[in-house]
Amino acid sequence: MKLSPRLQQVADLVDSNQILLDIGSDHAYLPIHLVLNQKITKAIAGEVSEGPLANAIKAVRANDLEQVISCRLGSGFNVFSDEQSEEVNQIGTVTICGMGGELIRSILADGFNKQLLNEQAVLILQPNIGEKTLRQWLMDHSYEIIDEKMIQEVNRFYPIIKAVKRQQPTTYTDLELMYGPLLLKEPNQAVINKYQEDKKHLRSILSQLNHDHPKYQMFEQKINELSEVLNHYESR
Ligand code: SAM
Repeated sequence: MKLSPRLQQVADLVDSNQILLDIGSDHAYLPIHLVLNQKITKAIAGEVSEGPLANAIKAVRANDLEQVISCRLGSGFNVFSDEQSEEVNQIGTVTICGMGGELIRSILADGFNKQLLNEQAVLILQPNIGEKTLRQWLMDHSYEIIDEKMIQEVNRFYPIIKAVKRQQPTTYTDLELMYGPLLLKEPNQAVINKYQEDKKHLRSILSQLNHDHPKYQMFEQKINELSEVLNHYESR
């Protein structure tokens, strides 16, 4: 099974021999790939919607992996029945990919509040948008970002964040929360392409607004911020 570059990068960040919980596991591509490649031993593929769950069950059956990948209906971390509650602490990696940052944040918050999020588990998160709010949640809950990638698929950009819980909180600046503490230090070409595209897009919006438009200044500030970040990358 060949994954998209985005999911392949997520797969590459998963540590070996873990039990994986993949939340929002349409088609269960990620757990199937990881099990077939013997990187992980077991997985739970969680889905909130019947259709994607049916896709996951079908794909798992087609690969004869029902014994090691359990497909379950439920929102976020709510995929453990009372009899399965001991599994919560066996989960070594949680992946939540292909959703907005706000949604991923609310899934994490719900899991945290209900004590269904095992604090030992590594989080690998791939927000399509809204990564700042997600990094803020991680910082507020003492997670350290230990790896970060940006993947470009044609003209779409996908940040990927790997984080682990620490005893002591890690503090990030506003700029680091926005652009990623590690991506700021070590950008790849996709990062540079993304912010060049964002800047171009905002400039074209700005060119159509009157100076007294309520959002004019906000767009102008954002363009300046992007210019600074791009200058920072170029000066490295
Ligand atoms: N994770 C896969 C990927 O990255 O390719 C599928 C991404 S797909 C765009 C998002 C999936 O998340 C959908 O199948 C949707 O049903 C599921 N989803 C959305 N909210 C969810 C939640 N609260 N709990 C579990 N799954 C959810």
